[in-house]
Amino acid sequence: MKFIFITIQLLIFVTAGAQKYDAELSAIVKGTIPGIIEIRHKIHQHPELSNCEFKTSGLVADYLQSLGIEITTGVARTGVVGIMKGTKPGKTIALRADMDALPVTEQTNYSFKSTDTAVYNGKNTGVMHACGHDIHTSVMLGVAKVLTSMKDKISGTVLFIFQPAEENLPAGEEAGAKLMLKEGLFDKFHPDAIFGIHSNPALQVGQIGYSLGAANASSSTFTFTIIGKSAHAASPELSVDPVVVSAQVVLALQTIRSRNFEPFEPSVITVAQIHGGIRDNIIPSEVVLSGTVRLLNPRLQDEVQKRFREILEGTTRAAGGSYRFDYRRGAPVNMNDSALQLKMLPTMERIAGKRNVQAIHPWMAADDYAYFAERCPSFFFSLGTTRPGTISGGLHTGTFMGDDDSIEVGIKTVSALVIDFLSGL
Ligand SMILES: [Zn+2]
Ligand SMILES: [Zn+2]
Repeated sequence: MKFIFITIQLLIFVTAGAQKYDAELSAIVKGTIPGIIEIRHKIHQHPELSNCEFKTSGLVADYLQSLGIEITTGVARTGVVGIMKGTKPGKTIALRADMDALPVTEQTNYSFKSTDTAVYNGKNTGVMHACGHDIHTSVMLGVAKVLTSMKDKISGTVLFIFQPAEENLPAGEEAGAKLMLKEGLFDKFHPDAIFGIHSNPALQVGQIGYSLGAANASSSTFTFTIIGKSAHAASPELSVDPVVVSAQVVLALQTIRSRNFEPFEPSVITVAQIHGGIRDNIIPSEVVLSGTVRLLNPRLQDEVQKRFREILEGTTRAAGGSYRFDYRRGAPVNMNDSALQLKMLPTMERIAGKRNVQAIHPWMAADDYAYFAERCPSFFFSLGTTRPGTISGGLHTGTFMGDDDSIEVGIKTVSALVIDFLSGL
């Protein structure tokens, strides 16, 4: 009985302790918002492609320095890392924001829409924050400002990671999270945990989504060439037609997901490019295909590669042709730490409102944040970005509209998660 009483008392004390600062937090966040929205508009209006985040990282560095946060610039080319120490010693929590934009032409009617262009893959193209990284960067800058004002509540260290080059890079090029780690980021700072956010236009402003376990799929890319024998298109008997073999292979690859994996194993195998032939009366000698594989279960990687080989080997041999095959593993599964998630969910629900925090499916797109999550316990979650009553295009499209008001929700939630995590709740 006495034990129960003490436990209840302790629980009340802990809960009250956590809530004690909520009003102060709300007030500080409110005061922070106008300046941060101004920064968000600047970043959104002048987006920069992967590894070209010069103005963005300059802005980030200036802002952190103005708060008295110790920074390192030029991390993994254009990354910025900030270190903020609380007034009391304790654990280290890392926060990650990505800063790069995409070669997409913006089609929104925002007053701060981007009309900037850049050369990408030899072509002139519009550039847009179509993945919401301007929101992530703005949220984490806001968190830096808020936590600086609430230093007396911080027991430990906050490591701010402003990461370049999250979006796709040419195959084999190292950049982004992987390069930051290779340069020794976590060997130097040893975070006890990491939090990350991603914009989610399927959720409304005010809503937060999370998935227990995997947050994002792993991403691998493949290219294969079907090698046949060229002939006049009217004499197929003289050819080994790589177009027909390619069609058979594309369909057979879909059986990996439908016949080799358990029905409850989420996965994607997409052939995204087929290139072959030069005119309509010549059977070509080769067809080149490429695409991507997304998995939530890292143990299936070997199985996928084995089945690809078997299908290519069997199908081309049956036709009298041959093949070349290249398979590259990219970002791993972005895995949340379930224990950390369960520990932090009450904070999230307290700040955002219980009915606004919802379990969602993992996203089959990859995020190289996964490399950070491999190194320490992680909680990566979705921030609702669509203004209620409006329609937003999806991520990576020119009509994606991430609403300003999502930033306040992000700042408040991440700040509270940091304070509660470091206070040992
Ligand atoms: Zn993206
Ligand atoms: Zn993204």
